[in-house]
Amino acid sequence: MADVTTEKVHVLIIGSGPAGYTAAIYASRANLKPVLYQGIQPGGQLTITTEVENYPGYANGIQGPEMMVDFEKQAHRMGADIRYGLATKVDFTSQPYKVQIDEEKWIEADSVIIATGASAKWLGLESEQRLNGYGVSACAVCDGFFFRGKEVAIVGAGDTAAEEALYLSKLCTTVHMFIRRDAMRASKVMQDRVINTPNIKMYWNTDTEEIIGDNKVTAVKIKNNKTGVSQEIPVNGFFVAIGHQPNSDIFKGWLDMDEAGYLKTIPGTSKTNVEGVFASGDVQDKIYRQAVTAAGSGCMAALDAERYLSAKGM
Ligand code: NDP
Repeated sequence: MADVTTEKVHVLIIGSGPAGYTAAIYASRANLKPVLYQGIQPGGQLTITTEVENYPGYANGIQGPEMMVDFEKQAHRMGADIRYGLATKVDFTSQPYKVQIDEEKWIEADSVIIATGASAKWLGLESEQRLNGYGVSACAVCDGFFFRGKEVAIVGAGDTAAEEALYLSKLCTTVHMFIRRDAMRASKVMQDRVINTPNIKMYWNTDTEEIIGDNKVTAVKIKNNKTGVSQEIPVNGFFVAIGHQPNSDIFKGWLDMDEAGYLKTIPGTSKTNVEGVFASGDVQDKIYRQAVTAAGSGCMAALDAERYLSAKGM
């Protein structure tokens, strides 16, 4: 590791969603002089949503991208050193921990806070991408409210899809649920709930072919993959719930993670299996995945880092 490309920092934060920026606000105020690298999508998943109405403090709601600018400004005002750059490799063998940025420079840090988030999986249709934020969403809790009293569709068959379909069934007139096989992956109890909800209409062996609409979703075209029969269903919203991918690849072999790649933390803390390395936000949370819970866990990570560093006299 050449010295010219190495920089030593006290606390390094990787990621710029609600978890990363909140960690930066708390760490700055504790005088830990955090350096935050924003990653490939500064602001994280909220920058690809539209209106956010469930983040406390914004009485009139706010656009997701605008909210993340507010988070960044607040972290900056508290003194965080916020930089462009993507963490590409880590070496947690010994203190100080090493994190490579943009495959070039190495940062050495006394403590590392990971807030790299997760990315929703998408079907990969052109129409899905084009109408994202205009009726297409990967988060029913975030966007279901906009479809009150309307008809929507959801694709997916795991626990997330089941939970989101149930959530939508309380707001919408009908929820059309597309399942690609003849069975659901969701837990039995969730399957039973979905199947027994009168306004959730199940479509088995069903593939989504296209989401229809110019500036907003108006219908969805589906095809039964057993019979080959296609049909169009008029809907106002289309929810994708086919899983998330935690952004944890670079930590493989260093940090404990579950089979899906979510980082494991000691319950009730943000501590990973490497002391001084903390995880917060969606990279370690497959259950709640909300901006407010991510922000809360970013706060926990900064407080855990502060306590760790002070116990070590660093
Ligand atoms: P999962 O990976 O469990 O399920 C994804 C679902 O999407 C599967 O049913 C899969 O179908 C389907 N799918 C994947 N790709 C496509 C595609 N291209 N087209 C159509 N369907 C597709 O993800 P979840 O997000 O549901 O859950 C992740 C983990 O989190 C699980 O372990 C789950 O149990 C857990 N979880 C727990 C909750 C709770 O306890 N309250 C709440 C939410 C999640 P197929 O079955 O055919 O592969």
